[in-house]
Parts: sequence; structure tokens; C-alpha cells
Amino acid sequence: NILTNHLPTAELQRIDAAHHMHPFTGGDALAKKGARIITRADGMMLTDSDGREVLDMMAGLWCVNIGYGRHELAEAAYRQMKELPYYNTFFQTSHVPVIALSQKLAELAPEPFNQTFFAASGSEANDTNIRLVRQYWAAVGKPDKKIIISRKNAYHGSTMGGGSLGGMAHMHSQGGLPIENIVHIDQPHWWAEGGDMTPEEFGLLRARQLEEEIDRLGEGNVAAFIAEPIQGAGGVVIPPETYWPEIQRICDAREILLIADEVILGFGRTGRWFGSEYYGIRPDIMTIAKGLSSGYAPIGGSMVSDRVAKVIAESDFNHGYTYSGHPVSCAVALENLRIMEEESLLDHVNQIAAPALAKAIATFEDHPLIGEARSLGMLGALQFTPDKSRRAPFKAPKGTIGEIARDACFANDIVMRHVGDRMIVSPPLIMTEADTEVFVDRAT
Ligand code: PLP
Repeated sequence: NILTNHLPTAELQRIDAAHHMHPFTGGDALAKKGARIITRADGMMLTDSDGREVLDMMAGLWCVNIGYGRHELAEAAYRQMKELPYYNTFFQTSHVPVIALSQKLAELAPEPFNQTFFAASGSEANDTNIRLVRQYWAAVGKPDKKIIISRKNAYHGSTMGGGSLGGMAHMHSQGGLPIENIVHIDQPHWWAEGGDMTPEEFGLLRARQLEEEIDRLGEGNVAAFIAEPIQGAGGVVIPPETYWPEIQRICDAREILLIADEVILGFGRTGRWFGSEYYGIRPDIMTIAKGLSSGYAPIGGSMVSDRVAKVIAESDFNHGYTYSGHPVSCAVALENLRIMEEESLLDHVNQIAAPALAKAIATFEDHPLIGEARSLGMLGALQFTPDKSRRAPFKAPKGTIGEIARDACFANDIVMRHVGDRMIVSPPLIMTEADTEVFVDRAT
């Protein structure tokens, strides 16, 4: 291509290490080893600069839901760039792609979601949410309601706001995170933290921490609770069945808003359009990004329920991004959603892909080092343990076994991620039975 595809891998790696600062990549690791350079992709398969094919069990970063190589999306971007490459919607203007996408989202989302505030990423959308919920309470005459309760080990983005909402200790140790008025309660991770309790008892215990925290902080000071229906980057933590009904009960009983971060789960990952629908949750705000455009163009947003949207519309909400509702990203997202509907991708997930993934994950169940092998929809996790009977974690520093497993997978041409001593997958929704066989074959 017109860039540097013609250069040998070693030279690309040298330039990359010399000039490119990689996100979440420590020290001089890449200077020594060199990054694997991905040059093209099709379906679920990446091709690297040495021509090797790599099975992408992470859909990029949990985002390429319809798979790679869909030329319709490229054509939608091309058409839109020629017609109107950019315009903003700040000062009493709008444009067709953002109008059409907003309408489509209102159609796909459950009632009472009819409004979307756009951003270019999930982090930005969660920053918007911090401002939205505080502005909401200020506008209804309760300006003290500022605190947002989140969960330990959650990931909600990397901006100051998103990183603060997230509960990752290794992020909080740097750069002044978290910002004020954000607190974190425990996650419902039964396998690791449930002790002798049943998952159901533990789910209730962890949900009730929300109520205790509201009481401790004072209900008059709490604005919202934010959580992913299934914690993704925190390790694919599938909550016990009792957890979400109890959280919903608390949110109904108390005067706080509920923000569901749907950045990973939104657009089909659980087999429903939104993870909230899977769990019967009724949030006030939903964060969306990633699967909205299948990662083909950067876009995110806050879907806002009628009750909140009405108050915000009547107040002055001084907030917006240059790329809020970017026309090219909106056109790509619309085409992505059109394909998902036309090809009945949710039916494919429910009838073929999710059962195939579950079967593949279950093949690891009897391995002596695997303590938990679980999936839900198109998310899965394998938990390493030195002692299955005690649900013991590995005590190694910084998840060494996970790093070894991830590197071994990569060497075997599969992308899987590790979170401490858990291996996680989040493949494209187009996955077939044959793909899962390649996965099991390469992973074992
Ligand atoms: N929220 C969740 C649940 C995520 O998983 C992520 C990214 O992985 C984000 C927010 C941040 O999204 P982005 O990376 O687009 O800023």
C-alpha cells in the first residue's frame, strides 16, 4: 500500500518501537521483541506482515462484531466522505447521517430510550455521563448529588473521567486518578471472592453493598451507579443470577440514576441488542461504542432515557466534542446495523455462534489447571487455578500464568487476552462452528 507495507517486518518493528507509543504496553518490551504487525484481515482471521494467519478471538478490542473485510462499510464511508465528510451539530445545525442513526438507535433500544448524545469513543461517552448525571440532579434542584458509585476492577475508559469511573488499581496508581466524588464497591466475582457462599447468596451480598454505600455516603449526595451488565475487561465476570435483580430493586427504591455501560455488550454480544435487556435491567443511561460501528469507524455515545433527556434539554448542557455525531462514523454505524439486521446476526449468535463457543469453552473444563470455564453469548473466560477444589487463584505477581498463556496462544496464531490468571475471549459475532474448532485446536 501507499504506506510502508513494502518494508520488511524487522524494519517496521524498529520504526514502530522508535516512534509509536503503544497504549497499555509496559517498558521497553516492544523494543526488545517487536510488535506483531497486522496488515489485513477477513472474517475472523488477521494476516500479519509475515503472511501468517491469526484467529482473532477478541474481535479486535471487543468491537469487530460483524467481522473484518465488509466492503459495504468501506463503501458507506467513501460515499459519506464524498458527500459531506464533516459537519458539527453544535450550533443549531444537523446532518442526515446523525439524524438517521439517532432514529435507528431509538428504534433498536428498549423504551424509554429515544435520545443519543454522541462521542467518538466509549471513554468520552462515559465522561459525558459524569457530566450528564450531575447536571440532571443540579437541574432538578439537588446539586449535592454528585457522587458516582462504580465497582472495583471495572473498566470504563482511559480519560480522566473514564479511568476514574473504572476501578483498576494499576490505573489509579498513576496520574491523579480517580477524580473526586467517585467511589468503588466490590464486584460480584463469585469464583474468586465468593468463599463458602453459594453464587446466589454472594450475588445478593455484593448487590447490597450498593445500598450500604448509598447509606454511608448519604442518599442526598449520590448521583448514580455505573456498571457493565457483565464486567468485560475486568475478566468477563458473569454475575450470579441474584445480582442484577437486587441492584435494580435498590436503584428503584433509592433516588439514584443507573448507568449501564454497554460498550462491550451493546449490539449483540449477549444475543440481545443490549446486555441490559438480557438481564432485564432498566437503566437511565446506556454507554455505547465499539460494536455500534463494529470498530470500522470511531464512534460512541450516551443513550439517554426520556426522563433524563427532558431535564437535560430544558437545562443548558455545556458539553460536546468536535466529533460528536461525525457523519462518516454515523454512516458506517448505520450500514453496520443494517447488515446486522439483514443477516439476522442476533439469531446467528443465539442459534449457532454462542452454543458453539460454549461447547468450545467447555472442552477446557476438565483440565487440571482450569478452575472455571464459562461463557455467555459471545463472551467467555477460562480461569487458571493451582487447586480446583479450593477455587484458589495463582499467587504469582501480575498474573504470570496468564501472560505465559497469552504469549503461547499468540505464538500459536490465536489472539486471546489475559486478565491476571484468567484468559478471556470475545470473538466476532459471525463465528461459526468451524471457527470454534480452529480455536480449540490451536488453544490446546
Ligand atoms: N467502557 C467499557 C465497558 C469498555 O470496555 C471500554 C473499552 O474497552 C470503554 C468503556 C472505553 O471505550 P474506548 O476505548 O472506546 O474509549
